[in-house]
Amino acid sequence: MIKKCSFCGGNDGDGRRIFPNDTKDAFICEYCIDAAYEVVHGGEILDIKDESDKTPKDIEDITPKKLKEVLDSYVVGQEKAKKTFSVGIYNHYKRIFRQDEAQEDDTEISKSNILLIGPTGSGKTLMAQTLAKFLDVPIAISDATSLTEAGYVGEDVENILTRLLQAADGDVKKAEQGIVFVDEMDKIARMSENRSITRDVSGEGVQQALLKIIEGSVVNIPPKGGRKHPNQEFIQIDTSNILFICAGAFDGLNEIINRRIGQNVLGFGQEKRTKSESENLIHLVEPDDLVHYGIIPELIGRLHAVATLEELDEDAMVRILTEPKNAILKQYQKIFAIDGVTLEFEDNALKEIANLALNRKTGARGLRSIMEEIMLDTMFDLPELKGYKVVVTKDVVNGSQKPILIKQDILSA
Ligand code: ADP
Repeated sequence: MIKKCSFCGGNDGDGRRIFPNDTKDAFICEYCIDAAYEVVHGGEILDIKDESDKTPKDIEDITPKKLKEVLDSYVVGQEKAKKTFSVGIYNHYKRIFRQDEAQEDDTEISKSNILLIGPTGSGKTLMAQTLAKFLDVPIAISDATSLTEAGYVGEDVENILTRLLQAADGDVKKAEQGIVFVDEMDKIARMSENRSITRDVSGEGVQQALLKIIEGSVVNIPPKGGRKHPNQEFIQIDTSNILFICAGAFDGLNEIINRRIGQNVLGFGQEKRTKSESENLIHLVEPDDLVHYGIIPELIGRLHAVATLEELDEDAMVRILTEPKNAILKQYQKIFAIDGVTLEFEDNALKEIANLALNRKTGARGLRSIMEEIMLDTMFDLPELKGYKVVVTKDVVNGSQKPILIKQDILSA
């Protein structure tokens, strides 16, 4: 028998769970339970919570496997990168919190920061944000291109730490165990003879400034940031336990790797390499390649764990739309359920969205805006659609058709 939610009218035909009252004459579906919980307890409606979201109180409970599992719930694909990243994060926090457990040994474990190499919108920031949230440590996300060496117009490198302190609600100790994520690292590569970039200020100075804080030093930071508040007192932050995650697309790195190994692969010259084989070369990256790219060796020496992410394909895009916790489609279905409307996307429609996103070349970042464009008209009419099921087909995604509306009573009759 099809059960129908007494609140939103949705039925269990779409796989949602529906719970009866004691006398089994009233029902409530899981979406309405979530929505009601949010109304009573506040908080963000779209945050689908569950047990694994909780911060482990005891750092000893954390293992690389556990971290990878958390990543698996939010980040599609990128298996190798998730593994490398989990181990990197695990080692870092082990070094901070458990270094003393080793027996009578004065070996000091040095800080190992992380470098993430992969195309835009492939999940680099997402991985860092996901684990920062899970570990309940503050995270500051910065763009390397906005940074300058002291004295130039732009943002001082120290401002990254100001942002971290703000993310830690002003708690210096918490900030000192936090994560700094520096995106677009490739854009501050120094100019090398191999690549022609025109830039006003050489990236090298910024790299040197970054190196200073990554290495671990006590930095005076203006708690309110920048030059706008010249009279504020400085706060000292010790960066020796702050984890730095540097990220970038590193366009052109493939060619550098290809040049290094090209001739060494017997009977398999560069010109014979197919496109995807060339793309896969990124996994073979070595420190020297990054030096050729224009990252200073001292900085590379501080980024021990290197994880490479793949370009997302159609299948990965569809999975991103539907599978992760807080997946875009799940969020829309929830928004619809609150108004008593069921939302369904046909498989071809999802593939079409994936392809539109692929054409935009911004990775999975394009998915949400494409989805918003498709859903705008329906969202506008949503309150009037109570009791309907909305079906989105490939033609709806193309814009050549309107979503199909099916009265739900017909479904449950
Ligand atoms: P970047 O690699 O440029 O740092 P982000 O991690 O910021 O990209 O990704 C942008 C958005 O795209 C994320 O917020 C997320 O919604 C989505 N996304 C990107 N990659 C993935 C992935 N592998 N799995 C799930 N979602 C992803």
